[in-house]
Amino acid sequence: MSKSDVISKLNELEKFVITCHVSADGDAIGSANGLGLLLEKLGKEVLIIYPEEIPEKYKFLPKPENIEIFEESQNKTKKTQALITLDSSDRDRVEFVAGQVDYDVLINIDHHPTNTMFGQLNLVEPDKAATCQVIFDLLESSKDKLDIDLDKDIATSLYAGILTDTGCFKFENADQKAFEAATRLISYGVETHVVAREIYESMSVKTFYFIRDLLNTLKISEDNKISWLSCSKDLLDKYEAGSDELEGVINFPKSLKPVEFAVLFKETEEGYTKVGMRSNRYDVGKIASEYQGGGHKRAAGCLLKLSLGEARDEIIDRLKRELKGGN
Ligand code: AMP
Ligand code: MN
Ligand code: MN
Repeated sequence: MSKSDVISKLNELEKFVITCHVSADGDAIGSANGLGLLLEKLGKEVLIIYPEEIPEKYKFLPKPENIEIFEESQNKTKKTQALITLDSSDRDRVEFVAGQVDYDVLINIDHHPTNTMFGQLNLVEPDKAATCQVIFDLLESSKDKLDIDLDKDIATSLYAGILTDTGCFKFENADQKAFEAATRLISYGVETHVVAREIYESMSVKTFYFIRDLLNTLKISEDNKISWLSCSKDLLDKYEAGSDELEGVINFPKSLKPVEFAVLFKETEEGYTKVGMRSNRYDVGKIASEYQGGGHKRAAGCLLKLSLGEARDEIIDRLKRELKGGN
């Protein structure tokens, strides 16, 4: 799949709907807003449909005019020429928006190595740290074909995705190319300190107490190699918290020096548990795939039809086997 096919569609078509994966993070929102602004600037008709309310900390990001939050009850099919899905590795993760869009072509833009290539056009670049970086590189390499100049707003949105998906340039994916893309974006006037403050230093007191209680659930295996947090539905309800408040919390168990696997278990609707996994050396993407999940080598997740306790037993056992060199 060549970038020029995507560029041709962006040039050729007039109507676009953009969406991203559920529990949208900085990369999902940054890429949707950034691409949305860009298409708007090209004079296209653009609508972003977010799967749910945008987390508070990302509301400051510049965005195009037409944004909707998906509402199941609405049950109205949107007609468009192209549906663009961003930062989503499989159709399931965008289905409840995608299922209500009547499109001629689905363009899948992503950077997950586990992407199932579910679009008619798939621009999937696993060597990129963020979907925002995929979009930025697409623009940079197509300057002669796309009549558009980046500006501060677009750059700020795209920068936010690179910042968040590299864990503030701390993770293994924060390579030279990611830094270069960030530097180029900054040259359009991104106020990096403002972006950092809005995203990382705007926690509410309530969220702080929620995280304090959640950290109390931290468990560490006897050999100190696996650490995990368990977020029950009761705890979520007590603080009216959701995936927004949980974003990044997994970095606490990950920050322990001897830890090889950090895991966050989150109880969802009756009978389901969402599992987030991180490792500095092991391929958790492969392990998540065994459970119909996905992600990257060092950051992945899956959804299990098991209770919190059962999911914990299953995953911790699987990780112990990985440490022993088997599976
Ligand atoms: P999280 O731990 O939720 O931050 O997710 C880490 C990574 O795994 C992200 O790149 C997600 O896109 C991916 N991921 C998480 N849950 C799933 C899932 N159920 N299916 C596919 N990928 C997932
Ligand atoms: Mn994401
Ligand atoms: Mn991403």
